[in-house]
Amino acid sequence: MIDFELTDEQRLIHETARDFTDREIVPVARDNDRNERFDTDLVKKLGDMGYLGPIVSEEYGGRGLDYRTYALIVEEIGRGDSSARTVVSVQTSLVCSSIQRWGTEDQKHAWLPRLCSGEVLGCFGLTEPDTGSDAANLRTRAEKTGDGWRISGQKQWISMGNYAKVALIFAQTDPEKKHRGLAAFLVPTESEGFSSSSIHGKLGLRASDTAELQLDGVEVADDALLGDVGDGFKVAMSALDSGRYSVAAGCVGICQGCVDASVAYSKERKQFGRPIASFQLVQEMIADMTVDTEAARVLVWRAGWLKDSGRPSTTETSVAKLFATEAAVRNANLAIQVHGGSGYVDDYPVERYMRDARVTTLYEGTSQIQKLIIGRAMTGVNAMV
Ligand SMILES: Cc1cc2nc3c(=O)[nH]c(=O)nc-3n(C[C@H](O)[C@H](O)[C@H](O)COP(=O)(O)OP(=O)(O)OC[C@H]3O[C@@H](n4cnc5c(N)ncnc54)[C@H](O)[C@@H]3O)c2cc1C
Repeated sequence: MIDFELTDEQRLIHETARDFTDREIVPVARDNDRNERFDTDLVKKLGDMGYLGPIVSEEYGGRGLDYRTYALIVEEIGRGDSSARTVVSVQTSLVCSSIQRWGTEDQKHAWLPRLCSGEVLGCFGLTEPDTGSDAANLRTRAEKTGDGWRISGQKQWISMGNYAKVALIFAQTDPEKKHRGLAAFLVPTESEGFSSSSIHGKLGLRASDTAELQLDGVEVADDALLGDVGDGFKVAMSALDSGRYSVAAGCVGICQGCVDASVAYSKERKQFGRPIASFQLVQEMIADMTVDTEAARVLVWRAGWLKDSGRPSTTETSVAKLFATEAAVRNANLAIQVHGGSGYVDDYPVERYMRDARVTTLYEGTSQIQKLIIGRAMTGVNAMV
């Protein structure tokens, strides 16, 4: 049975994350968004707090926390700013958890302590210009050389790609083998032939770095391979299992932020001689937001509980990701409505919530892909292709 009672330690970690968010993230979120600023000072603070690898075991520099406690942290950071939350999710769930699960002892010791402290950032290079949802069909090629690999290709929409010191790159070693030929590589971004460029003009997540990566015959040694040749697809899917969970938890934070902002505003704002909170139609919007927030949180908590107890959780993680991301979009839209014209400018966080929430139904598998995963689990029939 899922236990909803937080332990004393979880309560303390939650309160600390809430205070940190209110003190360090909320005050800078608007300016970072306006200036499209990837806030490296904030990244350092996230590292100092132990938020860049909380689920990594202490032996490798993490905090050894369980998934439910991780969600408490990610929810708070997501309430503050989804760009900061993206740093936590990519670093922890996509990069660190992959190395922890698939890495050799040497790889773990080489990368995890520096990633968890924030000394270096990592990025996750799966998507390509011609390959998004159909990730197994990627074109980046890895060819065997004497004692290593030569990698060539392009990656698109890669979060933190301009700042990362290590890129987890997925490449095809033998196109005839299709997804069984995929491999994952830990590529130092200072390698010759590796370059990145910024993608600008995003609707939201403006304080997050998003890059296009170019790999032109990048040479890496055999020990850059993460897992075995042929494991690449499994590495990517296991990373996304953790990443989707983190995105979902962040979206619970957006949902809660929308409720908090709307409740506060509706009690201050007066129309027709009384606070708008006293109108039933405004209360309906707040009630709808509250129900979505609580449902999303419970779904995240269930997926976390399954992960913590070592049970399969892929379908439940997709359920949580689908519901929480769509709920965040709905809530942000309603929160703008509660704020009236004031919701349309960045004096309040709700228009940023709307713009930031929008990407969450796209990345780490679109809502359509989550539905196909859930549908496949329910029917046993793969409708993906
Ligand atoms: C800001 C941002 C940050 C990102 N960060 C990263 C990152 O760090 N690393 C990384 O690897 N990627 C990253 N991505 C990429 C993201 O994961 C992809 O955009 C996403 O997987 C969708 O791929 P696509 O954009 O190619 O869309 P497409 O796959 O082309 O999909 C377009 C539409 O077709 C639908 N569709 C596709 N296939 C099917 C199907 N079989 N059935 C029904 N509908 C279907 C989709 O649901 C969608 O509605 C990021 C994207 C953004 C915007």
